[in-house]
Amino acid sequence: MTTKVIPLPDLAGFSERDGYWYAEEIPLADLAKEFGTPLYVYSKKALTEAYQAYDRACVDSAGKRRARVHYAMKANSNLAIIDCFKKLGAGFDLVSGGELARALTVGADPKSLVFAGVGKSANEITQALQAGVKCINVESIAELRQINRVATKLQCRAPISLRVNPDVDAQTHPYISTGLKDNKFGIAYHEVLNAYREAALLSQIDVVGIDCHIGSQITTTAPYLDALDKVLELVAQLKKEGIEIHHLDLGGGLGISYGEDHPPDITEFTNTLLNRVADRGFGHLDVVLEPGRSLVGNAGVLLTQVEYLKPGAEKNFCIVDAAMTELMRPALYEAYHAIVPVETRTVKSTTYDIVGPVCESGDWLGRDRTLAIEEGDLLAILSAGAYGFVMASNYNTRPKPAEIMVDGKNAFVIRARENITDLFVSESILPS
Ligand SMILES: *Cc1c(COP(=O)(O)O)cnc(C)c1O
Repeated sequence: MTTKVIPLPDLAGFSERDGYWYAEEIPLADLAKEFGTPLYVYSKKALTEAYQAYDRACVDSAGKRRARVHYAMKANSNLAIIDCFKKLGAGFDLVSGGELARALTVGADPKSLVFAGVGKSANEITQALQAGVKCINVESIAELRQINRVATKLQCRAPISLRVNPDVDAQTHPYISTGLKDNKFGIAYHEVLNAYREAALLSQIDVVGIDCHIGSQITTTAPYLDALDKVLELVAQLKKEGIEIHHLDLGGGLGISYGEDHPPDITEFTNTLLNRVADRGFGHLDVVLEPGRSLVGNAGVLLTQVEYLKPGAEKNFCIVDAAMTELMRPALYEAYHAIVPVETRTVKSTTYDIVGPVCESGDWLGRDRTLAIEEGDLLAILSAGAYGFVMASNYNTRPKPAEIMVDGKNAFVIRARENITDLFVSESILPS
C-alpha cells in the first residue's frame, strides 16, 4: 500500500537535528526519560513568536495601537501558558466561570477580559460582573435579559456586545464552524438590530461593542472579510439610530498548518483585516482579536511511547501509551496530526494505524502512517498545543499526563502527572 506523503508543519519551537527531535535546546527523548510518557511539551519560544506576529500587525506604521489580542484560553488554559501571554501583553477571551478564575489567578486585569459563550449561567454572569470584565459577549435576547436582571440585583452596570451570526461559510469542519445560520452561536443577522434596540433600553446594560466569531481552523481570509463587512454595516446602521459601538471584536479562528493546510501568515492576515476596517472608515473603533489555536497549536507536541506493534491482514497497528483521552481531536473531528519518531531508526518502515489502549474503536491518533519504529520507541504527535490537554479526560480511569514548558535549555513542569488515587478521591460508596 502506498501512502500519501504529507509535509510536516512549520514549527518554531521543535526541530529535527541529525535524526533527533528537540524542543528548543532539549532532546525530546531526554524529556520523556525524565518526566515519563504520555507527556505534553510546549515551547515558550513558539508561543511567544506567534503572539508577536499578531502584535506586530496590531500597531500601525505610525505606532498607533489599532487592535488588541485577547488569547482565547479554551485552546490551552494551563496557568503557565496564560501567564506567558499575560506578560506579553495579551488580554483573554473566556468561555466559563472556570476560565475567569484562571485569568484572575494569574493576575489578569479584569478590563482585559471578554466573556463569551452560548450558555452563561446566572452564576457565571455574576462572577463576571463582580470581577469587572471589559465586556460580556451576548449570544441571545434571553441572555441579554438575564444579564440585565443579574446587574439589577448587583446594582451595577453590565458592559455588553452582541455576537452577530453573520451567516458566512468559514469552510471548515462542521463541528468547528460557528457562523452559519443553522449554528447555535450568536444572534441571527436579521435580528441583531432589534436586539441592540432592546439592549439600549434595558436599565443596567451599557452597549459597548459588537462581535462575531465564525469558526475555527479557517485557512482563508475571504470569510473574515465577508463577515467584517456585514458587521460594519450594522455598526453604521446602529450609529444612525444613536447606538454608539466602541469596539469591534472579530473573534478568533485563524487556522494553523497541521501539514497540508496553508493558512495565511498571522501578521499578513491581521494587517488585511485591520486595513479593511480602516478603509471602510471605522479606524476609530478599538479592535479585539481572539486567537486561540494559532497562538498555541504549533507550540506543543504530545510525546508517547510505542507499547506494541501488532501486524494484521488488513492493517498493522502501532499501540501507544497515549490515547483519545490525551488527544481527542482525531476521534472527535477525524483531525490529522503529523506523527514523527523522536529518534531516527534504521529498521524497516511499515504502514501503521497509531492507536491508543482505550476501549473504543474511535481511539486512534493517526491512520496509515509509514514509520520505521520498534516497540519501546518514542513518537511525537505534532501540532498538539491547542485543544489537546484541555480536552483530555479520565475515561478508562486514566490519569491525565504531565505538561512541560521548555524555555531554551530549561524544562519546567507546568502540570504534574495525575495520580490514580486522585481520580476517585472525591467519590464515595453508599453507607452500609
Ligand atoms: C474558540 C473561540 C475562539 C478561538 O478560536 P481559535 O480557533 O482557537 O482561534 C475565539 N473566540 C470565541 C468566541 C471562541 O469561542
